[in-house]
Amino acid sequence: MVDYKSLGLVNTREMFKRAINGGYAIPAFNFNNMEQLQAIIKASSELKSPVILQVSKGARNYANQTLLRYMAQGAVEYAKELGCNHPEICLHLDHGDSFEICKSCVDFGFSSVMIDGSSLPYDENVALTRKVVEYAHQFDVTVEGELGVLAGVEDEVQAEESHYTKPEEVIDFVTKTGVDSLAISIGTSHGAYKFKPEQCTRDPKTGVLVPPPLAFDVLDAIMEKLPGFPIVLHGSSSVPQEYVKIINENGGKLPDAVGIPEEQLRKASKSAVCKINIDSDSRLAFTAAVRKVFAEKPGEFDPRKYCGPARDLMTELYKHKIVDVLGSDNKLANLE
Ligand SMILES: [Zn+2]
Repeated sequence: MVDYKSLGLVNTREMFKRAINGGYAIPAFNFNNMEQLQAIIKASSELKSPVILQVSKGARNYANQTLLRYMAQGAVEYAKELGCNHPEICLHLDHGDSFEICKSCVDFGFSSVMIDGSSLPYDENVALTRKVVEYAHQFDVTVEGELGVLAGVEDEVQAEESHYTKPEEVIDFVTKTGVDSLAISIGTSHGAYKFKPEQCTRDPKTGVLVPPPLAFDVLDAIMEKLPGFPIVLHGSSSVPQEYVKIINENGGKLPDAVGIPEEQLRKASKSAVCKINIDSDSRLAFTAAVRKVFAEKPGEFDPRKYCGPARDLMTELYKHKIVDVLGSDNKLANLE
């Protein structure tokens, strides 16, 4: 058993409370490798932002769960080295799909876990989530549950009205399970292709797809049922068109990639939405930087010469998200 507190990590409870009261959201960035982690910690430390490091199933398969946990422990020390004396870093399991995986993360030093039972029948989702909460809370590890189904990797089907979180279920779910936060579906989606072209309109000037707006009416109805309760948005990359352009101009092929407009996420950040998950945007930044180096210097074969620029571009992206989208800069409890 590893106690996350001994690693210098924190759970989400205090950070969410302050985020709701302060009208901002905590960034939840996925990481799979050293460069991504360095960029996340550099951006959040320099801007004095709390941060959630997310580990998905794909990341565990790619980088190994043990190594990722030690990297997160190293991240705390790295943040201090960067001059952030009191970092607030949460290590969170993204989309845990069984009690066993959640338990192994709790036992191994994660400070927060998500149990995603959203594809199960409602009662089974409640029972599974309850079981994870009962285990995790013994060790003061916070738990995120999910109601409603997002399009993308969670489901083949695009989010329609029926897949949105049903506001009438949220009180029952939160009461029965005891979760600390709730991921909802209001039209965000996983991946870099969040919407089919026929769901969007097209900007006549740029030719870029304009996605349908998020269902703020559903969010409002949920907040009315659960005043002050922490809400989480998954699938909230914006797919910056400048990165898509660099990728496509340098041998890539990402036609009609489209995400959630940042103004809508900014608006959501000011509500009870206190955790916003961003993954695809950093993948796009990494790929754009690497493609550019390869196109300009075909003779380059030192990974530091293309992973370095990728890290710099990701750092820039994370800083932009923290300041302009989430508003979480200078929000550490202790800014000294
Ligand atoms: Zn997700």
